[in-house]
Amino acid sequence: MMLGPAIELGLPLTVLATDPAESAAQGAAHVRIGRHDDEEAVRALAAEVDVLTFDHEHVPPRILEGIERDGLAAVRPGPAALVHAQDKVLMRERLGALGHPCPRWWRAASAADVDAALAELGTAGRAVVKTPRGGYDGHGVRVVSAGSDVADWFEDHEELLVEELVPFTRELSAQVARRPGGEMLAFPVVRSTQKDGVCFEVLAPAPDLGPADQERIQQLALRIAEDLGVTGMLAVELFETAGGEVLVNELAMRPHNTGHWSMDGAVTGQFEQHLRAVADLPLGASAPRAPHAVMVNLLGGTREDLAAGAREAMERDPGLKVHLYGKSVRPGRKVGHVTLAGSDPADLLARAHRAERLIIDAVHEEQNA
Ligand code: ADP
Repeated sequence: MMLGPAIELGLPLTVLATDPAESAAQGAAHVRIGRHDDEEAVRALAAEVDVLTFDHEHVPPRILEGIERDGLAAVRPGPAALVHAQDKVLMRERLGALGHPCPRWWRAASAADVDAALAELGTAGRAVVKTPRGGYDGHGVRVVSAGSDVADWFEDHEELLVEELVPFTRELSAQVARRPGGEMLAFPVVRSTQKDGVCFEVLAPAPDLGPADQERIQQLALRIAEDLGVTGMLAVELFETAGGEVLVNELAMRPHNTGHWSMDGAVTGQFEQHLRAVADLPLGASAPRAPHAVMVNLLGGTREDLAAGAREAMERDPGLKVHLYGKSVRPGRKVGHVTLAGSDPADLLARAHRAERLIIDAVHEEQNA
């Protein structure tokens, strides 16, 4: 999704892809084949470009530190910042030290440590346990009532993160962009809704969040970007609690699912903004184009071929924007998203979900018709 904006900005972009069949490799003019955790492959790419950036956080920090040390390319965000999006324990530790609001948390090196944290928590006897690295879309997150519930994870992980089970009223996300020199810009704070740990719906701006609260939460995300020295897009995922307080759940230093609405709903979409920030170009306005925007994820269902449903959805609703990722469909896999912008959030949500059902479950619709 960075390719379109890169072409428009006249920025030549080379993709490192594991397989030529990957969607980014299919769309890019310049492709190198290699794994993101293969030092040689990443260094060879770095030697060819001015700036190295990412669309996930799984490139090992030592590879990036080597590239920075040897001056092969500017790494943006740099490994010293990125590590806080790669490792949830380091993130908790650093945000806590900086005084940013987080859930209560513990490190656990054994099931007994998890039990000790549970005993300390005392609340309904449940906690959330996470693998510090490599998790995504709820993989690596479990609600537990005993240390034995994550005994299997200790086979592969030296340490796990235990957190209080936050009784949040809803989840918010704050995105900001930051240039190497420190110029920053915040996007409107949005509400994100998850199903089984996977984001499926975003409403921008978050409903019933007054201007003062919008501002307060944007300022929190800007401070985190500044404190950690982030370059590019930063997403701060948050829990809002009954008292209107927010706690930081996690950080992503790249364009993020909760920012997809901005591709069609803001003056500058997050993918363009990320490129502008890492290429040290002036940032584009992050103001919304309409009073409200929605994004609904297309999570793989029964249907292999999404084209027919997408055509039908576009036919029925010309205001709809469809983004398909060109990935093979597996149940629950993110294979695309739709966005809509306008003035009535309830109408936008209803239309977006209607489109989602048409595209993903068109077989269903056909059977019911
Ligand atoms: P991932 O890296 O897989 O996105 P997250 O840490 O964002 O994992 O967790 C996924 C989802 O699990 C969150 O969006 C939230 O709904 C739920 N969750 C995570 N941590 C907590 C917590 N401490 N309390 C309550 N719910 C949580």
